[in-house]
Amino acid sequence: MAISSTIRTMPADCDHDHTPLIITIDGPAGTGKSTVAHGLAERLGLEYLDTGAMYRAAAVIALDQNLDPADGEALAEAVAGAEMRFHWAENPPPLMLGERDISDRIRDMDVSAIVSIVAAQPAVRRVLVQEQRRIASGHPRLVTEGRDQGSVVFPDAPLRFYLDADVSVRAERRMKQLAEAGKPVDRAHVMRDIRKRDRIDSTREDGPLTRPDGAIDIDTNHRTAEEVVDLMESIVRENLPDATGHPSRIRP
Ligand code: C5P
Repeated sequence: MAISSTIRTMPADCDHDHTPLIITIDGPAGTGKSTVAHGLAERLGLEYLDTGAMYRAAAVIALDQNLDPADGEALAEAVAGAEMRFHWAENPPPLMLGERDISDRIRDMDVSAIVSIVAAQPAVRRVLVQEQRRIASGHPRLVTEGRDQGSVVFPDAPLRFYLDADVSVRAERRMKQLAEAGKPVDRAHVMRDIRKRDRIDSTREDGPLTRPDGAIDIDTNHRTAEEVVDLMESIVRENLPDATGHPSRIRP
């Protein structure tokens, strides 16, 4: 799989800092992982990796090529041969398939409906986990979010978070996201999709959604995304003062 050779320009105040620092954020759908991971990365001057987007891209490939999402070997081969890459020059980096920006396409309901089946295929996971580690070697100061980042992909990351919230709260967030993107919103459909993904994601054999041992739990039920980012930022700065630096950027 080709990856972008373009390294995103780092924020001006951290261009001197190349000490590797991986922070992982895992949790089920609708906990606000993408929003807070991106927010935390911004606060700390790190890059941001959305690994769910990569599984969603694999689902797009299955739909485009009319492949059975449960045929892991065929799909893994198609994914490995596809030019899936993040365009690191932008923030957050859009996800490209060849020259096509699929950042919007990956959020469609037909993609959400099959993504957990795609992500349950060990052969597909092998390709994408390898790719995530490769990305991290080129982008070593990273906030990465998904289902298995702290448990499987980067178990040695110095800080690993686990986000959670009730299913009804998570469904409300998903509906808001869909509405903001101008996509059709059907509450029952969204609830069904989230419950189904929870079930498939947490019961699959390979890289199941799980709270990594030693992870820091963040309950997002009654916190806004901003409050979650505030909390995580203070935890990171408290635990890794040398790696984060920039004390002047701490919010009151
Ligand atoms: O985070 P998001 O909802 O976009 O993820 C879409 C799907 O991708 C999840 O439901 C899960 O099946 C899969 N996924 C995964 N491992 C990751 C990230 C996402 O299996 N690290």
